[in-house]
Amino acid sequence: MPVLPELLAANQTYAAGFAKGDLPMPPARKVAVLTCMDARIDPAKALGLEEGDAHVIRNAGGLAAEAIRSLAISQELLGTREIVVVHHTDCGMLTFTDEVIRGRLAASLGEEAGAAAAGMAFLPFADVEESVRRDVAAIAASPLIRPDTAVAGFVYDVKTGRLTPVE
Ligand SMILES: [Zn+2]
Repeated sequence: MPVLPELLAANQTYAAGFAKGDLPMPPARKVAVLTCMDARIDPAKALGLEEGDAHVIRNAGGLAAEAIRSLAISQELLGTREIVVVHHTDCGMLTFTDEVIRGRLAASLGEEAGAAAAGMAFLPFADVEESVRRDVAAIAASPLIRPDTAVAGFVYDVKTGRLTPVE
């Protein structure tokens, strides 16, 4: 059973009580959060964010490599000035290699997928703290990010909901 009907029903309820239609586009708290797409992380709840407060950029791993475009837009056009990078324990990105996912895509989707996957870096990593350090450094070093930006990095523990800073 597809889940879409349930999503649409939930949206009806949400929209019926919606009272935040007049928020300005620029995030009120001038912060962009970069984190993993992991279903166990709710950045709004975990960080106390309301609608209109922040940009939340998500991808597999919460990786800077895919986020510089969004962060540059966030800063230059929408005025954010702080960046918070949050990777997490038990991340799916720790569980495979490029070879593994390329092989699986080729096996499940066929030759064309295999060829497409061969040219793609899926960016798995072996150490969460190290990936945070690398991404904080990559963001700070990007010419598209304002040099005065405070970039902070954390590991979120999916067992406790707690953030631990990465120095
Ligand atoms: Zn993850």
